[in-house]
Amino acid sequence: MKAAVVNQFKEKLEVKEVEIPTPGNGEILIKMEACGVCHTDLHAAHGDWPVKPKLPVIPGHEGVGIVEKLGDNVTSLKIGDRVGVPWLFKACGECEYCLSGQETLCLDQLNGGYSADGAFAEYCVAPADYVARIPDGVDSVEIAPILCAGVTTYKALKVSGAKAGDWVAIYGIGGLGHIALQYAKAMGFNAIAVDIQDDKLELAKELGADITINGRKVDPAEEINNKVGGAQAAISVAVTKSAFEQAYHSVKRGGSVVLVGLPNDEIPVPIFDTVLNGVSVKGSIVGTRKDMQEALQFAADGKVRAIVSTAKIDDINDVFDKMEKGKINGRVVLEF
Ligand code: NAD
Ligand code: ZN
Ligand code: ZN
Repeated sequence: MKAAVVNQFKEKLEVKEVEIPTPGNGEILIKMEACGVCHTDLHAAHGDWPVKPKLPVIPGHEGVGIVEKLGDNVTSLKIGDRVGVPWLFKACGECEYCLSGQETLCLDQLNGGYSADGAFAEYCVAPADYVARIPDGVDSVEIAPILCAGVTTYKALKVSGAKAGDWVAIYGIGGLGHIALQYAKAMGFNAIAVDIQDDKLELAKELGADITINGRKVDPAEEINNKVGGAQAAISVAVTKSAFEQAYHSVKRGGSVVLVGLPNDEIPVPIFDTVLNGVSVKGSIVGTRKDMQEALQFAADGKVRAIVSTAKIDDINDVFDKMEKGKINGRVVLEF
């Protein structure tokens, strides 16, 4: 099968023939139809984070495909089912986090396209218990980004604690952010879109943003405080430290700042203001299997739709190049 492989950090991916993997106990073989390209895949290929992926690795955790073969003891799926390969590839199922419906915090987890081979390939093997069931009637290419960008931003909005009618600011209107905005609207929030590129903000307007702000032209925190008295929640899905600092300063008293983007960096959190203003700073990592079901249902109901352009697996290095330069509007999805 054809696969895109990271052999060395910061080098180009090698698109090559590798052997089709065999599903083991509890696993399935999936014939991939589509896989979204997430900025996390780029972090993986660059080795950006403190915990590195295995090498060589096949990235890809927004994969959609059809079950082609069942390993031993798989009873929950059948050949022909359509499933999604997520970031939460596998968890232990037995720790305190797994038992309390917080399996994204499991210390013994595998991640798709990082610690396990992912879906930038014609076939992928995954544990049956952790793949997502794709609802009927949705297009594989369009639904692919929901498997990471969708579930992640849906979950981040949930943990923000914002309620219908509240103002929510989204920093970074890229692959995650353009979907975050749509969930925010569908959940009854007023949405503020912040990016540093006007074309991203144009898209944000089309997708229903109530206010758009170019962080290169004005101070977004000041603007948000002036216009709406501060946001109840600010979600940063950008890959730049400054966006996180601005997000912090955008929230009103009692508000929450949700960190989602993953630059390997730090921001100062002023103790006095955080205490006096009762501000919460939270991290949010993808979503549980239950969050995934809900996030997919929003898309199946037509309330959220990823804006996608397609590419072939041979183009993966060009796609990464464009992503690094911020030249992708919406999400690029590899089509097999
Ligand atoms: P992307 O490249 O598609 O989008 C990033 C966006 O941020 C771009 O639109 C860019 O113009 C914008 N941006 C850059 N600097 C900015 C600034 N100073 N202010 C406002 N906007 C700015 O990336 P993506 O696929 O959406 O991923 C974003 C980040 O989220 C990555 O770091 C990725 O690893 C991370 N991520 C985290 C989770 C999680 O579970 N926490 C899940 C998926 C992705
Ligand atoms: Zn992702
Ligand atoms: Zn566990």
